[in-house]
Amino acid sequence: MSIVCLGIEGTAHSFGAGLVSSKGEVLSNVWDMFSPEEGGIHPREASRHHSDLGPKIIGEAIEKAGVTFENVDLIAFSRGPGLGPCLRTTATVARTLALKLSIPLIGVNHCVAHIEIGCLESRFEDPVTVYVSGGNTQVIAYAGRRFRTFGETLDIAIGNMLDTFGREAGMRFPAGPRIEIEAKQGRNYHTLPYSVKGMDLSYSGMLTAAKRLHSEGIPLNDVCFSVQETAFGMLAEISERAIAHTKKKELLLTGGVARNNRLTEILRGVAKRHDAKFHRVTPSLAGDQGAMIAWTGILQYQVGDVIEVAESQVLPKWRTDDQDILWRGE
Ligand code: AMP
Ligand code: MG
Repeated sequence: MSIVCLGIEGTAHSFGAGLVSSKGEVLSNVWDMFSPEEGGIHPREASRHHSDLGPKIIGEAIEKAGVTFENVDLIAFSRGPGLGPCLRTTATVARTLALKLSIPLIGVNHCVAHIEIGCLESRFEDPVTVYVSGGNTQVIAYAGRRFRTFGETLDIAIGNMLDTFGREAGMRFPAGPRIEIEAKQGRNYHTLPYSVKGMDLSYSGMLTAAKRLHSEGIPLNDVCFSVQETAFGMLAEISERAIAHTKKKELLLTGGVARNNRLTEILRGVAKRHDAKFHRVTPSLAGDQGAMIAWTGILQYQVGDVIEVAESQVLPKWRTDDQDILWRGE
């Protein structure tokens, strides 16, 4: 018999609710991204957004799925990593629902959820995953019951770098899409720090340098072009090494920055060179949303990975490789 999980996401700027069945059908997926008029994301303001809009978003998700709360069998929530105030608001909503409906509560790792929803969509079994978003930049592969982080940013995430540079150039959050449009018109490459350290990378130096180029009057489209080519080139290098090392035959691109077509093109080339299949997660499942939490909740539930409300404290620093993945093989 098929069961239905309500997944609630709220680690950072977005609050989302999605319903997914144990057959892997996404029944609904509703979210709203907090986008301040100016400036970046303040954790407390974002958490207020979540508590103000959360009930409406959950109601819409239930309605769009064509079910009632009585049809929901499980509640899953994004337990971490993320911003403390946002996580706590989200967890409070999830606990309340689980208690009220007397159904199991499941704490989901946000990064693992990005991988699992990508695997559901692509039917990939064991990919190297490039997870790029506002708060995370990681190259991940499964080994020995954990999703191992093969490489990651040592300072800021790629999306954060794009958004911060964009803000400096007068763009509203999130700036990634605007930068992509500008970059298409760019022709002249200006050197920026290419900072790959072993399997890790760093984006803060290139952020400073890109801001400098902009303030020196280099055309915005050329700066955006240079930022993209450098930032994506760095990612391609560590992804390629992860594929070469693990010999895995699938490359998955996920997270909000996966919406970028140039990055997709570059990584598709990496996969091709290594005879690996490539999949870019569809935009509606790439960013932060509830369906990925719901689907991972179902996978965890099937192996008994549920938590008691009293032990469901949030984990703001929960690492991708800090969770035993009980639903995958050795
Ligand atoms: P997430 O944190 O996964 O919800 O993703 C949000 C991040 O994705 C923000 O940093 C956005 O700037 C970034 N983003 C969204 N669309 C694009 C795009 N087309 N190119 C680059 N970055 C993007
Ligand atoms: Mg994310």
